[in-house]
Amino acid sequence: MSYNTLRSAVRGRVLLPGDEEFDTARTPWNLSVDQPVAAVVHVEDADDMAAVVGYARAAGLSVTAQPNGHGASGTAADTILVRTRRLDRIEVDPVRRRARVGAGTSWGELLTAAARHGLTGLAGSSPVVSVVGYTLGGGLSWFGRKYGWAADSVRAFDIVDADGRQTRVTAETDPELFWALRGGGGDFALVTAVEFDLFAAPSLFGGSIVWPAERTAAVCAAFQDITDDAPAELTVWLNRLQPPQGPPVIAIAATYLGESARGRDLLRRLDAIDGIVADTRREFSPAELGTIANEPTAPGPGLLRTELLTTLDETAVEILLQAPIDPLMGIQLRQLGGALAEPTRGAVPPFAEPYALSLLAIGSDPDTVDAVRFTQKRIIADLGARVSGRRPYTVLSAGDSVTEVFDTSTLDRLRKLKRARDPHGVFRANFPVLY
Ligand SMILES: Cc1cc2nc3c(=O)[nH]c(=O)nc-3n(C[C@H](O)[C@H](O)[C@H](O)COP(=O)(O)OP(=O)(O)OC[C@H]3O[C@@H](n4cnc5c(N)ncnc54)[C@H](O)[C@@H]3O)c2cc1C
Repeated sequence: MSYNTLRSAVRGRVLLPGDEEFDTARTPWNLSVDQPVAAVVHVEDADDMAAVVGYARAAGLSVTAQPNGHGASGTAADTILVRTRRLDRIEVDPVRRRARVGAGTSWGELLTAAARHGLTGLAGSSPVVSVVGYTLGGGLSWFGRKYGWAADSVRAFDIVDADGRQTRVTAETDPELFWALRGGGGDFALVTAVEFDLFAAPSLFGGSIVWPAERTAAVCAAFQDITDDAPAELTVWLNRLQPPQGPPVIAIAATYLGESARGRDLLRRLDAIDGIVADTRREFSPAELGTIANEPTAPGPGLLRTELLTTLDETAVEILLQAPIDPLMGIQLRQLGGALAEPTRGAVPPFAEPYALSLLAIGSDPDTVDAVRFTQKRIIADLGARVSGRRPYTVLSAGDSVTEVFDTSTLDRLRKLKRARDPHGVFRANFPVLY
């Protein structure tokens, strides 16, 4: 089937191999991942998305949506890549405390719009990640300990189904699909917009504090003390960083959803650890949430491995914070617990584990990739049963599988729905439920 048919069916730009901008358009944010797609369509609206689905189905191709490719996995052969950035409409209803955003909206854009009304959504650490991609995978938020998974805050998805029909999916109209879209990933529909709850955030305290690596033992002890009995409004992360230039450091990043005085008080024990080289703690606007972790906002070749940690005992501390970790750039421990451990209304599994562990590196040349993957595997093996083996969907990397995310009965339910609603495999998530 000729691509001229596709070009005449959509308002947006269609780019094919050989077109000047094709390589730029197909390249994901994570530059360590190659995406050999068949075509890229910069869709203008939901009608364009429906037209792409109709074309793909007739041509025997798949469709995958990516606002930008933070979660790209490379599973993209024979696929039309839909870029959704133009669907960036944001509506905030401060009375009902609801937001409705298009499929191309980033968290930074939504947080800015909601903060004008003293409200926030359940965003993660990065302002450039999309609301829809993050939420379809569950969405592990700075405020998850208080309000749970972002996916559970959703009230409705506007979608295009595998027959190219545009519908609104809610708990009432289509409970099974609504369940799957809340944590099961992008394998079931193209989402054109999402509507979800916002939460009061009149004040927010947080920041990051950095010490030389020599203070690791004291900072780790304080981290364990603070996280042991933290209220759900407080979330604290520990970062061991080995930047390519500059000395190694140990750092804390934290947010407290409440008054600054109380937030400052909860973190006071950190003040007693001398040698602080940087301290950004202050009252923040929720619009500035993305600056707290200060993660890179420009594309790069990230090599991430995330696991859930069942305990941070002496051996785990030795392996993660004291032993050499070259060629990794850093290790991050995110505090979980609170509402994240409670049963959910969607496919996203609750986390009983107290910490999420990420082993971070950058690089794309084969030797570096091999060395990083080897070190990540070695550290995980050394941790043994301290690693539960389950992984959050949103932080899976190329080569990972959803079998590490869902228990058997959840995965069976997702697969049954996939076969029923998308029997021709029109939709291809970054981490598919079937293959
Ligand atoms: C710097 C950084 C920080 C992060 N921090 C967090 C964090 O704190 N918490 C957390 O949970 N995750 C975090 N993530 C992971 C992030 O949530 C995932 O990478 C997520 O997949 C990003 O969504 P995206 O839409 O931006 O990326 P994309 O790669 O563009 O999309 C990811 C997948 O979502 C699906 N998808 C996207 N849009 C649609 C659509 N319209 N219809 C159907 N399917 C769609 C597709 O399957 C797509 O492959 C972080 C990632 C980065 C790079």
